[in-house]
Amino acid sequence: MRVAIVTVGDELLAGDTVNTNAAWLGRQLAERGVDVERVTTVPDREAEIVDVVESYRERYDAVLVTGGLGPTHDDLTMDAVAAAFDVPVEENEAALEWLAEDGYARADLAEGTADIPAGAEPLHNEEGVAPGCVIENVYVLPGVPAEMEAMFEPIADRFVGSETHVAFVTADEPESALVDRFASLREQFDVQVGSYPGEYVRVKLQADEERVVQAAAAWFRERVDVVENEAE
Ligand code: ATP
Ligand code: MG
Repeated sequence: MRVAIVTVGDELLAGDTVNTNAAWLGRQLAERGVDVERVTTVPDREAEIVDVVESYRERYDAVLVTGGLGPTHDDLTMDAVAAAFDVPVEENEAALEWLAEDGYARADLAEGTADIPAGAEPLHNEEGVAPGCVIENVYVLPGVPAEMEAMFEPIADRFVGSETHVAFVTADEPESALVDRFASLREQFDVQVGSYPGEYVRVKLQADEERVVQAAAAWFRERVDVVENEAE
């Protein structure tokens, strides 16, 4: 399964807010064996959101959009997603009922709070107010990280990929010195090798079978200066 993540918000582009939602979702999906092929951040501008959603819904098996829900002036995501599917937004009865159960009386809600694209499936916001939704292969989630995470949980099983196994080895050598051993690893084992330099080089080995990843990790550990207790 190939997925794109779209995060919405001027504050993300300006660096006022660190885009933890993309990282969190990327990790959740990768752990399920789903291929996250793109993360795009767009400003709070309806035309920009429409543009990426229209294009990505055709190109990927699923698109996850976070941020810009709710009824304030800079919350344009629901309107934009509706426009990308050429449907209007509609007040959703199930969402209104959830809000009533959570103690928000209909009369007190800002106009548009329970609006989602016509025909979409509403998603309950356990941690906040604005509902999310699913329309075809597009999932719309809130921007507030705790709200987004709580809303993702019940739908997580809809994202499935092939099983993968991972091992990390941290090496205390310059990355450039490891090039030959990376090549040998890839020749001998059916593994993907990721190399992430920092103070040390974090090497990520990934394969379809646990047996293969463990054999590759053992081979590599014997041939590099390993930093212990740096796993994960
Ligand atoms: P609400 O449902 O409360 O209206 P929302 O969906 O409208 O939330 P935003 O208005 O886009 O969300 O953002 C709400 C808060 O969440 C802001 O403080 C914002 O910085 C933060 N936030 C939004 N997107 C992200 C993100 N990708 N990563 C981390 N924090 C984010
Ligand atoms: Mg908001």
